[in-house]
Amino acid sequence: MKTIPNKINILGRDFTVSIRNREHDGTGELASSRYAAQCIWIEKDCHIQVQEESLIHEMIEMLNTMLELDLEHHKISSLGVSLYQVLYENKLSFGNME
Ligand SMILES: [Zn+2]
Repeated sequence: MKTIPNKINILGRDFTVSIRNREHDGTGELASSRYAAQCIWIEKDCHIQVQEESLIHEMIEMLNTMLELDLEHHKISSLGVSLYQVLYENKLSFGNME
């Protein structure tokens, strides 16, 4: 099952999800996202679980921006790790994932 989609819809906005090499672009981050560009980047050389958790983290980052939640970054990180653990351990998926 493919777990990192190429596109993801967040609150009606279509975001492009790209796998990248952080050493190539020099960011040093495991993942990043830009609301204005509607892009999410995930590091290529990570375990699939780190990639999946990073995707959840960036989704929360975008929700934080779009909904003006003003969450501090450590809260976004805590929510990302926690939500991923619950989804993963309970084998939860919704909709028609391919
Ligand atoms: Zn972050």
